[in-house]
Amino acid sequence: MLNLNRDVVVVGAGPSGLTAARELKKAGLTVAVLEARDRVGGRTWTDTVDGAMLEIGGQWVSPDQTVLLDLLQELNLQTYPRYREGQSMYIGRDGIPVRYAGGTFPVDPDTEAEMNKLVALLDGLAAEIGPTEPWAHPKARELDTISFHHWLRRHSGNEEACNNIGLFIAGGMLTKPAHAFSALQAVLMAASAGSFTHLTDEDFILDRRVVGGMQQVSLLLAQELGDDVVLDSPVRTINWEPDADGGHRVSVESDQATVNARFVIMAVPPNLYSRVSFNPPLPRRQHQMHQHQSLGLVIKVHAVYSRPFWRNSGLSGTCFGAGSLVQEVYDNTNFGDTRGTLVGFVSDEKADAVFELGAEERKRAILESIAGFLGAEALEPEVYYESDWGSEEWTRGAYASSYDLGGLHRYGKDQHAPVGPIYWSSSDLAAEGYQHVDGAIRMGRLTAARVCEAAKL
Ligand code: FAD
Repeated sequence: MLNLNRDVVVVGAGPSGLTAARELKKAGLTVAVLEARDRVGGRTWTDTVDGAMLEIGGQWVSPDQTVLLDLLQELNLQTYPRYREGQSMYIGRDGIPVRYAGGTFPVDPDTEAEMNKLVALLDGLAAEIGPTEPWAHPKARELDTISFHHWLRRHSGNEEACNNIGLFIAGGMLTKPAHAFSALQAVLMAASAGSFTHLTDEDFILDRRVVGGMQQVSLLLAQELGDDVVLDSPVRTINWEPDADGGHRVSVESDQATVNARFVIMAVPPNLYSRVSFNPPLPRRQHQMHQHQSLGLVIKVHAVYSRPFWRNSGLSGTCFGAGSLVQEVYDNTNFGDTRGTLVGFVSDEKADAVFELGAEERKRAILESIAGFLGAEALEPEVYYESDWGSEEWTRGAYASSYDLGGLHRYGKDQHAPVGPIYWSSSDLAAEGYQHVDGAIRMGRLTAARVCEAAKL
């Protein structure tokens, strides 16, 4: 068992915790990062499965994610664009696959007009409310007490338009059904990406990938931190008390190490805070707030083929179908790879349904759904893999956490508030880059700056 003395203990070696640790070290403080898993990177993870390199977690970067883009440059990591040449596929309410070009779904004029109306409304709200303090806006309560599903239907009677617009945030981002979160939570998601229009534009939001995989960000940050990162070290207990100088004495107990420090940063998703015993217990407000933050559920499906067969028929590999089992499909071929890879997503209640099936039956159902867009060749991949973050003890869902109905305006203002020496850092608490690696890095920097300020005691 290690016994360490540091200024700050960081719990969690994902991009947020590692960024915080790096910034604190730069500022002259000593750190230890305790990580539960046998690897760093958290929800970013590159692995080789049956000979194919797969990004099992977070991978895409968009042009507004400037903090991540700057860090990639600083770490000498290259990026490459997602393949997007050719036509896309769309399956609407009639269930018939249709090819289309450009950014607009091939829907009837009335549906298109209704979709444009909803996009304009959401763009307006995102611009007006912004990502930093959505709970403080005069419309916060009104928007937070109606589900996104019902808000859409309040503004449009066109079911196809509501389902298509719903998909961009519900299945596509929060990975919860649109009845399970509020319109305010949807506005935060849009504002955090610059606008709702950005979320509808896959060429923007899913613009580029990192050569060699996004996990390298964390691997390189951890390399810099060296022995200050301790793996296989789930934190079980955080004890703290005030000291005589107006600061705090902290003792953090994990399976591999006990660290005595002055500050703790909890750099884990909020749904996992309650896995740790806090002594003294957290205040009532945090106990309540943390029960209203939960992760969504999505299966990220990887299918690798001997060649990107869809490109030969002039298809980009991009497919949408709000009613399809696999709601979105993209060409996810690795940089310089001659094989072709598709990635698809099965979200929320559809994921529940296919997890009721056996593995083979589920694989068949998922591949048949992809084949519904791209043809029978999709049925026979060389490598098939389902990222199942819901089964990961140290994550328990995907992509990130959001508040249930009414939670964002009720608790949001307190989500960053430190409790004694304990600070909170996660992509799931970010404004810009919320639920993304960029937001994780922004939060790591912000939290490190707050700890540095408090360390001047
Ligand atoms: P995490 O990455 O979750 O790191 C938290 C760390 O804390 C983990 O390593 C965990 O093991 C550790 N931990 C938990 N509990 C304890 C404990 N008690 N003691 C010690 N350690 C603990 N983002 C994008 O930008 N682009 C994408 O394309 C994208 N796609 C995604 C696809 C999937 C399938 C998933 C799951 C996520 C995706 N994301 C994407 C989101 C992105 O991966 C996350 O926003 C980001 O990884 C969050 O970083 P974090 O450091 O806040 O948390």
